[in-house]
Amino acid sequence: MMESLLIIGGGLAGCEAAWQASRLGVSITLYEMRPHKFTPAHHTDLLAELVCSNSLRSTSLANAVGLLKEEMMLADSLIMKCAQETSVPAGGALAVDRAKFAERVTEEIVKSSRIKPVREEVVEIPEQRPLIIATGPLTSDHLSNSIASLTGKEYLFFYDAVAPLVTLESINTNLVFRQSRYGKGEAAYLNAPLNEDEYRRFWERLVAAEVNDPRAFERNLFFEGCLPLEVMARRGFDTLRFGPLKPVGLIDPRTGKEPFAVVQLRQDNAAGSIYNLVGFQTQLKWGEQKNVFRMIPGLENAEFVRFGVMHRNTFLNGPQLLQPTLQLRKAPQILCAGQITGVEGYVESAACGLIAGINGARLASGKEPLIPPQQSAHGSLCRHVSASASSNFQPMNINYGLFPPLPGKLPRRLRAQRISERALASWSQFLAKLL
Ligand SMILES: Cc1cc2nc3c(=O)[nH]c(=O)nc-3n(C[C@H](O)[C@H](O)[C@H](O)COP(=O)(O)OP(=O)(O)OC[C@H]3O[C@@H](n4cnc5c(N)ncnc54)[C@H](O)[C@@H]3O)c2cc1C
Repeated sequence: MMESLLIIGGGLAGCEAAWQASRLGVSITLYEMRPHKFTPAHHTDLLAELVCSNSLRSTSLANAVGLLKEEMMLADSLIMKCAQETSVPAGGALAVDRAKFAERVTEEIVKSSRIKPVREEVVEIPEQRPLIIATGPLTSDHLSNSIASLTGKEYLFFYDAVAPLVTLESINTNLVFRQSRYGKGEAAYLNAPLNEDEYRRFWERLVAAEVNDPRAFERNLFFEGCLPLEVMARRGFDTLRFGPLKPVGLIDPRTGKEPFAVVQLRQDNAAGSIYNLVGFQTQLKWGEQKNVFRMIPGLENAEFVRFGVMHRNTFLNGPQLLQPTLQLRKAPQILCAGQITGVEGYVESAACGLIAGINGARLASGKEPLIPPQQSAHGSLCRHVSASASSNFQPMNINYGLFPPLPGKLPRRLRAQRISERALASWSQFLAKLL
């Protein structure tokens, strides 16, 4: 009889895990609760739906997320394959047409002879082993309770934020200009420049605008790397100009000068008809979003196809609960994958699924799970979620600070280059062991 593996959650991590396990000859049952039950952020019945930005971030090896993607491609990642097939122009980043991307992933999963998708909410951790929990930051309440009683640990909750989307035809293209920062890659962004007066009026209105949960910030519900726009704005007049509205590397062709501040808009679908306001994750009330964001020159008539919203994020205290193989210390036949482990981001979640899929397949075949090499990007992520200090454990995007340091002092670019060479060599050896 063929070895079998159960996966709960058909998101980025669950689909990648199923794909990797199927490549290793295991048969998989993949549970996904949509369309019978939706999370607050998912809108479709498609597997691997991207809930917010359409960007899988930098493609450069000078950036750790570029390295992580490179490693995934070497491992024949499903998420990377579908992302490349459905990419849209985004300068030095990999961005996708979100609908086409999720459709392609769904197609591949459905047509795989080894994967059986089941559209049903799992309300309790099943008896079957091995199994992978990949239910993401918005794990349903019933299953959250069941996981909490298994791990014996309390969940930590905080909020992530979604940026609004506007239609291109509603943007006043006489006021915005197309350019990438420092002229890098294709001119993929639309830029709305603000002079000092315009910025001041925008900032004053933004800090006074009505929000949905005014006490969320005091309750420490935000992740420092993903703060709502209005929370950043309240930190000071210039904070946004050094954050999402930074003008550096952008020259307004009408003045030949760098503007006082710039709002960037990034293409969000292949047709190029929808753009997202980069870094504008927000907790403002929807009516307020319309009023405040229409103060941005060029967006005075913006048509919003989706407003920014706030959402819960559920994740485990990984260092207390997980091994670097992504097995639960208490129940080693159960693996966890994706954002629920305490990684942050689409690519990181999928990468985590890749490791869990390999190790889930190994457990199903009676083999020992493997720890990905520490020098690799995958290994660094697994180490972060299993061995960071657990007292103040926070979700983390991949970054070069998570890798074992190199001896001596090197300039930043050279250091990134050396770390990525070392990572790719160790990762290739790891992959060779799987054959
Ligand atoms: C609102 C929001 C915005 C985000 N924006 C970004 C962003 O812009 N860029 C970025 O890189 N990252 C973003 N993230 C973070 C994160 O990377 C993504 O959420 C990512 O999709 C996580 O992948 P995952 O596979 O772990 O979870 P998901 O992709 O969410 O997949 C989990 C799946 O499990 C299903 N599920 C849940 N409970 C059950 C159950 N009991 N039974 C069966 N199925 C279940 C869900 O329906 C879902 O399909 C955002 C997160 C949130 C919450």
